Amino acid sequence: MKIRELLKDDFPTLSFEFFPPKREGNIDSLYLAINELITLTPSFVSVTYGAGGTTRDKTVEIASKIKNDFGQEVLAHLTCVQSTQDDIAEILGDLKEHNIENILALRGDPPGDDKVFMKVEGGFGYANELVEFIRSHDQFSIGVAGYPEGHIEAPNLDTDIVNLKRKVNAGADFIITQICFENDSIYHFRDRARSLGIEAPIIAGIFPIFNFKQIQKMTTLCGATIPSNLERSLSRVSEKNEEIEKYGIEYAIRQSEDLLKNGISGLHFYSMNKSSHVIKIVEELSIPKGG
Ligand code: FAD
Repeated sequence: MKIRELLKDDFPTLSFEFFPPKREGNIDSLYLAINELITLTPSFVSVTYGAGGTTRDKTVEIASKIKNDFGQEVLAHLTCVQSTQDDIAEILGDLKEHNIENILALRGDPPGDDKVFMKVEGGFGYANELVEFIRSHDQFSIGVAGYPEGHIEAPNLDTDIVNLKRKVNAGADFIITQICFENDSIYHFRDRARSLGIEAPIIAGIFPIFNFKQIQKMTTLCGATIPSNLERSLSRVSEKNEEIEKYGIEYAIRQSEDLLKNGISGLHFYSMNKSSHVIKIVEELSIPKGG
């Protein structure tokens, strides 16, 4: 089913994100985590597309297994990195052949040690061009990335939201947000988007913290901030990962409850291919469901 149809219901979506493991040996534990998380009856799960297009075949293979073997609705991520229009057309063909109806259309980060994103000849420079291309090709439902604190390369939030609007105008049906620990930033982003004429549903990306160093690294890379009260609390709890994880679970529950109360269109959990902490969070939430 297309995610744009799921979002027509007046109920928030629930979704989980997975990434194709680098080592082939870890594929079984990925499928185990997916099988455990789909017992929570998510609206869809998503599979990322590795930096530099490195997981192209794996993304399609895993998304196909989720959709066709596990019977779970899926969203396949796709980036413009090092791909020509012909390459993208081929991937769209693969996705269609595997019955995959939803794509998260992204530009991607500059590959390798490059600091600036350079489009390849015959490729795309920005995600809005990819959205337009997908829209002209087939009837996929298309999601795009949104940045409550602004994308790291953008001069300011409003400029970034104007660029987000290009993606929606090109045919994106919904927006999934980058990691953000401060709901006020998400609400401000949503208000600014609405005031600039973006009506597409906004699904909040939730990152359950279970490792302090990892979260510091990730937020530095993507330009998200760790609010000072969260940073203080995390450094107060012990160095032990179990205690960090316990705190991260409580924080994610509080953050998600507040988002649900404030009418968010969906909760998208960055699972990091682990199930236990996400299960503990979702079991505590009362997510309204249709039917
Ligand atoms: P764009 O929307 O193209 O924006 C990139 C920058 O250019 C922004 O600063 C924007 O303001 C500016 N801009 C946009 N359009 C224009 C224009 N027409 N003219 C001038 N400036 C413009 N990366 C992966 O490699 N694989 C993944 O699977 C993946 N999944 C993600 C999932 C989510 C939910 C999110 C939030 C991010 C994900 N990313 C992924 C990261 C993403 O690829 C990076 O954040 C990347 O740097 C930007 O991608 P984008 O699609 O937002 O780019």
